[in-house]
Amino acid sequence: MSTRVLIDHRKGGAAKSRHPEKAHRPDNPIARKPEWIRVKAPTHPVYHETRKLMRDNRLVTVCEEAACPNIGECWSQRHATMMIMGEICTRACSFCNVTTGLPYALDADEPARVAEAVAKLGLRHVVITSVDRDDLEDGGARHFARVITSIRDVSPETTIEILTPDFLRKNNALEIIVEARPDVFNHNLETVPRLYPNIRPGARYYQSMRLLDRVKQLDASIFTKSGLMLGLGEEKMEIAQVMDDLRIADVDFITMGQYLQPTVKHAAVARFVTPTEFEEYGAMARVKGFLQVSSSPLTRSSYHADSDFAELRQTRNARLAGAH
Ligand code: SF4
Repeated sequence: MSTRVLIDHRKGGAAKSRHPEKAHRPDNPIARKPEWIRVKAPTHPVYHETRKLMRDNRLVTVCEEAACPNIGECWSQRHATMMIMGEICTRACSFCNVTTGLPYALDADEPARVAEAVAKLGLRHVVITSVDRDDLEDGGARHFARVITSIRDVSPETTIEILTPDFLRKNNALEIIVEARPDVFNHNLETVPRLYPNIRPGARYYQSMRLLDRVKQLDASIFTKSGLMLGLGEEKMEIAQVMDDLRIADVDFITMGQYLQPTVKHAAVARFVTPTEFEEYGAMARVKGFLQVSSSPLTRSSYHADSDFAELRQTRNARLAGAH
């Protein structure tokens, strides 16, 4: 599963049932969050409308599955990130709250239901993500493509951002997706390469980097985007190196947010990065040439994705105009 986030609202036996592979691990006590991380409980009426629409269309959202702290704000503005191909992930990343296990068969009606929800929400920009589907021969690439096509059929003006898994060992998966022409291809690196064996044990840093690089080689008009969770024990120089790697792959947009520990069975927060440090990392990313940068404790891949996309497009157009 390629997203970060996470405060687990599902207390009690949640860790045991959702993450059986983590049950044997020793507990990591959850550190008290600093005041800049606290978020208000959702009360806005539109939040409840969004929630009902997701239920009525039998859609899964990463906002809920990952227990995202921004759900009150995003859903009150009808911004929900739909998670396709079920709610069970074949990976078992140590930061992620999405349930691990053997997923169900794909639901052929899902693309139409997603498209219907996008139309009902009246979204200008939609973010679609998924669980990892290592069990499928194409990693779910064709299903992603069907979702993109279904949204385009019903809402041709809506721009589409996809946040994908790494398609490790899935030949041609990326080609299938690129052919469907999403506006933004987002794949999160999540952390620095040194921490992969602990944080993303089923993934490979260079596979993720190659994936992003290859999108641009296949279709340079697609915006690429990637994100990092900070506070897992990474060093400043390592973040700078990852930024350089992303720029070599011509990635347009970087997001950086604080890692939050979902349960005692997940990786511990090494430290809470201060808002000032996030600003400094943001400034560093701008100097390195990213077209768009979002860096704050509560930044998530899909947080403010619609307004950020509008800015991203404007910035690229302005640069292209300046180059002529
Ligand atoms: S930041 Fe993304 S995952 Fe979190 S609530 Fe907003 S749309 Fe959902």
